[in-house]
Amino acid sequence: MLQINAKRLQDRIEAMAALGMDQSGGVSRLALTDMDKAGRELLISWLEELGCLIHIDPIGNIFATYPGQDREAKPILTGSHNDTQPDGGKFDGSLGVLAGLEIIETLKENGYTLSRDLIVVNWTNEEGSRFSPGCTGSAVWSGKIDREKMYALTDRDGKSMKQELARIGFLGESDFPRKTFHAAFELHIEQGPVLDHEKITIGIPEGIVSPRWYRVKVTGETNHAGSTPMKGRQDAMYAFSLMCAKTIETAKEFETVVATIGHVETTPNSLNVIPGQVDFTIDIRGWDVDNTDTVCHKVESALKKIAEEADCLVEIDRFWEEPRVTFDTELMDAIEESCKDLEISYKRMYSGANHDMIYVSMIAPGAMIFVPSIGGKSHSPLEDTPYKDCAAGANVLLHSILKVSN
Ligand SMILES: [Zn+2]
Repeated sequence: MLQINAKRLQDRIEAMAALGMDQSGGVSRLALTDMDKAGRELLISWLEELGCLIHIDPIGNIFATYPGQDREAKPILTGSHNDTQPDGGKFDGSLGVLAGLEIIETLKENGYTLSRDLIVVNWTNEEGSRFSPGCTGSAVWSGKIDREKMYALTDRDGKSMKQELARIGFLGESDFPRKTFHAAFELHIEQGPVLDHEKITIGIPEGIVSPRWYRVKVTGETNHAGSTPMKGRQDAMYAFSLMCAKTIETAKEFETVVATIGHVETTPNSLNVIPGQVDFTIDIRGWDVDNTDTVCHKVESALKKIAEEADCLVEIDRFWEEPRVTFDTELMDAIEESCKDLEISYKRMYSGANHDMIYVSMIAPGAMIFVPSIGGKSHSPLEDTPYKDCAAGANVLLHSILKVSN
């Protein structure tokens, strides 16, 4: 069976990680920085050596086409992102891009031409760390987010995304056609603990969970911490503490649902004053739609009840939600068949994290392949994936592409 060159893939992952490598062993290659430019140029030099046709679109996405037998047939797309978080890991994103490159080289050195074009893509600013929101490249390309709005995003120094694209030489002139695609794949590290815990090499996510985000304002009454008796206080912090515990306990009752309170502000935020106001956020995500709805409903009514009992007011604003994304059944089956052919362990799962595939799968039949993250760590210098698992993921991707190409 055709197999990728595991050593070559490893060497390239390490060569790419050297661009932006920190003393901690993490990688800082934030979108549209000099390091990102260096990474893009290295990637393009490798792709050009293999005879790929390079297209840079106006949001800086890099599309490399490896021509197939029938140039008119619907192409296959694979890839991911090559930018990182600050002090992030070397596998997050990069693996998916470099595996695409490795597959082209494997096909080429074995004299194998696919029946249709294979396109390897590097999406701009998936991480959303320097310019927020993330998944910018895939969202703009798929037509789901306005390009001019994204051009106007600025980093902390006030530099706009458009300025930075131009500065590093990646402000392309023409769109890459959003024609119909035969299939789209993204190989990515899991960024969670499931595969590592269960000692399974490949995860086949059925989709990406549905997020619901809230802003909550609790209003009580600011008063003196010493002279106000406990009875009769309208302590917004007390109400918040009960709300926080109840939200997390509610999510714990339901499998496949997670809840996080990640941002809290208290007013006046003074040691000896009863807080009159607490503002906080809730992030609830779930794969099972009924369970997720139930958690949201329970949390919303619990918040109201707690506010009433604590003699406070609560305003609940569910300001953002997206439906869950489900991947293409035939492609998931092709991935599963490839795992069987290669005798690699696998399991069906779902993705709790966002990926470019959210947007890509709105345009093309799409699916993802996960490989284990040791200890479930990511966005950290401690992020790690065994190289044999990276190779297994690339081989499963190769055989999935071969299966669906014909
Ligand atoms: Zn990623």
